[in-house]
Amino acid sequence: MADALLGPAEIRELAARLGVAPTKKLGQNFLHDPNTIRRIVTAAGLTPDDVALEVGPGLGSLTLGLAGAVRHVHAVEIDPRLAAALPETVTAAHLTVHQADALHVRGADFDPAPTMLVANLPYNVAVPVVLHLLAQLPTLRGGLVMVQKEVADRLVAGPGSKVYGVPSVKLAWYAQARAAGKVPPAVFWPVPNVDSGLVAFSRRTPPPGADRRAVFAVVDAAFAQRRKTLRAALAGWAGGAARAEQVLVAAGISPQARGESLTVEQFAAIAAAAGLSPPGGKLTASEPPEGVD
Ligand code: SAM
Repeated sequence: MADALLGPAEIRELAARLGVAPTKKLGQNFLHDPNTIRRIVTAAGLTPDDVALEVGPGLGSLTLGLAGAVRHVHAVEIDPRLAAALPETVTAAHLTVHQADALHVRGADFDPAPTMLVANLPYNVAVPVVLHLLAQLPTLRGGLVMVQKEVADRLVAGPGSKVYGVPSVKLAWYAQARAAGKVPPAVFWPVPNVDSGLVAFSRRTPPPGADRRAVFAVVDAAFAQRRKTLRAALAGWAGGAARAEQVLVAAGISPQARGESLTVEQFAAIAAAAGLSPPGGKLTASEPPEGVD
């Protein structure tokens, strides 16, 4: 028989037995509401053939819901006590626990290959985790993540929105994202002082023209000075304002526009235009580490 979902009493009892005092540093706010678990699992749009990847299973609330919905669950947990205790709570045979930092996992760590990311993410590393996993695991066809509401708004924002920024464009490179609902603080223990939001996403083909690192370098430069025109904001990246203007015009974008009005396709067009006639040096000299860009 499948393990039952965890309510408030079970969560407290489990935490006490394991000697777990939730830490802010690891973003430990545990779900103790079976209705919210069911809601997340349903909203994720899983099929029985899916292989779920959960980051931060914690005490196992969501893991239990996932185990009943898919053919395999990979749970990546950084906290050794929680990782070690998980198989006692989730007894399903189709669970693999990885005691690891989700920011450092690679595709080769998972067999079978994950198809869906479903997680109540540690809020302090939510965006880098999502981008890292989409970069590292091409088998992911989509996912549903719970993050701080403010971060959810950023992730799903489109050009022209006040909160459109680096996370919005980078997620749009990999996937189409949409808001999938709000979650109140009361369903967590301990109770956080912010609302949470669900973000659903499905993998898309990246825009053509330039590779990811080159495009992300343009995005980073454009939003580092988001109030400036692209001509000014991209000057450092391009090797001068005149060169930035030349590249922007070649890409069909007004040098007076601001990064916050551009789609990911337009950022790709800028990177492609720069690549066609590179200025004396490299355009992507300061590349961020793989995945956490
Ligand atoms: N999924 C559980 C739930 O809904 O009750 C717990 C979610 S809690 C918001 C975040 C979890 O992520 C914690 O268990 C924490 O230990 C874990 N965590 C934090 N940073 C992590 C990282 N870099 N990699 C993997 N797990 C991490």
